[in-house]
Amino acid sequence: MIPLTDVNVHATNDWQSEIRQMIRTPEALLAAVGLGEEWLPAAQAASKLFPVRVTPSFVAKMRQGDPNDPLLRQVMPLAEELSSPADFIDDPLNEEAYNVERGILHKYHNRILTVTTSACAIHCRYCFRRHFPYQDNSQSRAQWQQSLAYLADHPEIDEVVLSGGDPLMLTNSALASLLTEIDQYPNVKRIRFHSRMPIVTPSRIDDELLQILASKVQSIIFVVHSNHANEICKYVGHAAKLLITNGVRLYNQAVLMRGVNDSARSLRRLSEELFAIGIQPYYLHLMDRVKGAAHFEVPESEAIQIHQDLRASTSGYLVPQLAREIAGEPSKTIVASSG
Ligand SMILES: *Cc1c(COP(=O)(O)O)cnc(C)c1O
Ligand code: SF4
Repeated sequence: MIPLTDVNVHATNDWQSEIRQMIRTPEALLAAVGLGEEWLPAAQAASKLFPVRVTPSFVAKMRQGDPNDPLLRQVMPLAEELSSPADFIDDPLNEEAYNVERGILHKYHNRILTVTTSACAIHCRYCFRRHFPYQDNSQSRAQWQQSLAYLADHPEIDEVVLSGGDPLMLTNSALASLLTEIDQYPNVKRIRFHSRMPIVTPSRIDDELLQILASKVQSIIFVVHSNHANEICKYVGHAAKLLITNGVRLYNQAVLMRGVNDSARSLRRLSEELFAIGIQPYYLHLMDRVKGAAHFEVPESEAIQIHQDLRASTSGYLVPQLAREIAGEPSKTIVASSG
């Protein structure tokens, strides 16, 4: 294990070298945060269900020796994952039913979601796609051509969401060719990235990517994913500034989780940090009931109370909508609005 102080996580502008240095084992994660062997057996067992993956720059924002660190909790495999209640299942959103083409989910009227890659720069233990059948959805360029033809038959679609995995795990050239493919469909007015990389690998926002984005006629939106104020550092701020300067609009979605951000105070700090770097709070999601993640759940009644306390403590535009996804509904279900 390379001690973190020896890893130059930020000075290089080469995101791929940071990805190569990613922490991929429970042993390496425990060593990096200064936790003892007593955590190892459970971590090893749980990591067999969903492997450990986290970037050095995200680990650098964790407190040493603190098993309750809110960032560590999001990535650390725990014994709790091994005994999941029966109502926490593999595909809680029934996404299979909306898999209209290879790599494409069409759930909501005007927008499709594309599964561009299975890879992420971080494995979030609560991820609702931790059991997603990615092998059935991975694609070559020719396959994308075929799948995206769906857009020609559906003029009502005016927005394409690039998701995954994390769409920014694609190389710039792969992204550029995917976007060129989408250019053929004039009904698509907006392209939205659902990505955690501006938070966990801010160096991903490199010059070449910015040029690609700036050259597009469609509006470009990034919905990033940050759950805690400690995730926002000056490098994330710099990445956000570069995106904004290049015409990208930024929103954040968070997941409400026990032991991570389950208080109005924590959420207020998150909103303030995001806003300070130009990111608008968008959704606060009630967690999907995916197998292995029950220990993160905050009951809906408590979530509504936390949201109410948040609204009572800060400006309206700093309050995200509290939302839940119910399979079969025509949109996310708003449990408590920001107004
Ligand atoms: C969440 C989601 C979207 C985006 O929904 P918004 O409410 O517009 O953010 C689009 N497609 C799918 C399949 C989704 O799950
Ligand atoms: S898809 Fe998003 S939430 Fe899931 S593991 Fe990847 S970065 Fe985390």
